[in-house]
Amino acid sequence: MSKTIIAGPCSVESRQQLQSVVEILCRVPHVKLIRGGVWKPRTRPGGFEGLGEPALRWMKELSESGLRMADGSPVRFCCEVARPEHVELCSQYSIRDIWLGARTTANPFMVEELCAALRGSGMNVMVKNPLNPDVRLWLGAIERLQQCGITVSAVIHRGFSMYDNHGYRNDPLWEVPMEMRRLLPDMPILCDPSHIAGSSALVPAVARAAMQLAFDGLMVEVHPSPETALTDAGQQITPEAMQSIVHTLADTAEGVPSDQMSAELTMLRDNIDDVDRQLLQLLEKRMQCSRQIAVIKRQAGLAVYQSERWAEVLADRLRQAEALGLDTAFTKDLLEKIHGESVRIQMD
Ligand code: PEP
Ligand code: MN
Repeated sequence: MSKTIIAGPCSVESRQQLQSVVEILCRVPHVKLIRGGVWKPRTRPGGFEGLGEPALRWMKELSESGLRMADGSPVRFCCEVARPEHVELCSQYSIRDIWLGARTTANPFMVEELCAALRGSGMNVMVKNPLNPDVRLWLGAIERLQQCGITVSAVIHRGFSMYDNHGYRNDPLWEVPMEMRRLLPDMPILCDPSHIAGSSALVPAVARAAMQLAFDGLMVEVHPSPETALTDAGQQITPEAMQSIVHTLADTAEGVPSDQMSAELTMLRDNIDDVDRQLLQLLEKRMQCSRQIAVIKRQAGLAVYQSERWAEVLADRLRQAEALGLDTAFTKDLLEKIHGESVRIQMD
């Protein structure tokens, strides 16, 4: 498995807490970096906001203590920075890997300030997605950093804060990181299953989904006793649970198909290409009908949008979809898109 795994506590809470988690994680294959929150963005005031400098000092001491990562290199830490002073302190304590959190990525002013502080530092910067599902805002933060000559070593998908998060803490909306993959095909994309899941029980399933979607690695929150954690207690997992995730992921989505499987894949993909061609031709035919209908409605003085007709069409198509075994929510989304385009054409 050629994946990059970053693991460690949401927040550094004490030297003992950090050391006990590092001593296990540094022996887990594929763990390349240990994360540890030093300054914590809190939704509401009054909570634990991170220890600041002492946390950095313990990281430096541990990385100079002779402890080694599984690949033999000295233990390496990373943390989130949100202000220019954080960058300055990280560099004083020899932290070379940092990330921009979701709240920072969402704010171009803050990104600009960090760009100025990071210029010429040689640090590797990872960029979490913004809180809202705006791929251009995410891309904008990456571009701002790159324009200042800063190395963006990876982006991190941590889900999105939506009105309805569909059972997650942050809705994964996998299509957004997939779009990022299309826009920046060479950029490593890691998944943060902890902030997507919001509960430790759901973390392994989200991590598995990320592997199936060909993510390049994971950033996971790991705490020696999650139930006592000062931040994100519900979603942190034990070092042992982390070991078992790495173990089960080792054989996920890294296979090489046999010749027969490759031949079958090619045939099925040809079929998909053909079906897509037919779908597009049918859509074009449907839009032609809409254009002709528009002419009649205009002549008859009828409104473009006929709510009763649309309600009937939708109900009928959903019945058909159900009989065919198609997912209802998916079919509804698709039909709404098609109908929206039909209305747009008629308004032209
Ligand atoms: C974190 O990684 O602990 C964190 C605060 O993450 P995010 O920026 O994704 O909310
Ligand atoms: Mn956290």
